[in-house]
Amino acid sequence: MMNEQNLRFWNISFEVYEALPRQGPGSRDCAARALRLCRGLPSSPAILDLGCGVGAQTLHLAELTSGHITAIDNHAPNIHRLNEKIIEKGMSQRLRAQVGDMADPKFPPESFDLVWSEGALYNIGIGNALRVCRRLLHPGGYIAFTDAVWRKENPPLKVRESFLQDYPTMGWINDVVAKIQEHEFELVGHFTLPDDVWWEDFYTPMEARITELHDQYSGDEEALKILDQIAEEPKMHRRYSDYYAYEFFTARRLEIS
Ligand code: SAH
Repeated sequence: MMNEQNLRFWNISFEVYEALPRQGPGSRDCAARALRLCRGLPSSPAILDLGCGVGAQTLHLAELTSGHITAIDNHAPNIHRLNEKIIEKGMSQRLRAQVGDMADPKFPPESFDLVWSEGALYNIGIGNALRVCRRLLHPGGYIAFTDAVWRKENPPLKVRESFLQDYPTMGWINDVVAKIQEHEFELVGHFTLPDDVWWEDFYTPMEARITELHDQYSGDEEALKILDQIAEEPKMHRRYSDYYAYEFFTARRLEIS
C-alpha cells in the first residue's frame, strides 16, 4: 500500500516528468538510426509504441515513416498531452494514443510490423516484455527498444544504490542480447545513445523544471526534500555517466512460431 509520503513523492515526480519533452534519454537521430536497421518494413507499417510517455518518439516515428502508429502508456496525463499534440498537428488519421498496460496490451496477436519502446520495457522486465512483443508482432516483424545497461565495472556506491532502487535487474549489453535470443528474436543491431541526448530533451529541462518547482514549493519542506531527491539523478549522471548507458537494440521476430 502506498503511504502518504510515497504518494507525495509520486505526485511531485509526475509534476516534474510530465512537463519534460521526454521522460527518458533519446533523440530523433537515434530513432532514425534504429529505424534504418529495420530493413524491409512494409511501406506503411503498423507500429506500436509501448510506454510512450508524452510521445516525443511517437511523433518522430510519424515523421520518419508513413505508418499507422498506436501509442500506449499507463499514466493517463501523458496520454492526454500526446493526444493534444496529435490534434494540434492534425495527425489523428495516423496516430492513436491510449491509456494501456504494456504487460497486457489489448491487441490481437500478430497485429504489428514494428514494436517500439524507449526507456520503458524494463518496467515489466525485459524477458516478460519480449514475450509480450513477440506475440504482438507478425513473424519477421521488428522490435526496437532502449534499455539501461552497465558499461564499467565497480560503480561507486551512489550509482549502485540508485540503480538498485530504479532497476535492480539491470544487466550488461550481452545480458540483453541473450534475452533477445532466448525469446526467439534475431539481433539485428545495437548502438549506445550518445551522452548529449541525456541532456538535450531530458536532464537539462528536468533541472530547469526542478528549479521552477523549488520556487513554487518554497516553504514546503517535504516537497523541497523530494525535489532535491529527484535532482540527484541528473547530478549523478553528470559525474558518473561512464558507468552506465542507454543502448538501442533492434531485433527481428524469427519466422517460426
Ligand atoms: N518512451 C518515453 C517515456 C519513457 S519513461 C520517452 O522515452 O520519453 C517510461 C514510461 O513508461 C512512462 O511514461 C511510464 O508511465 C510508462 N510505463 C511504466 N510502466 C508501464 C506499463 N506497465 N504500461 C504502460 N506504460 C508504462
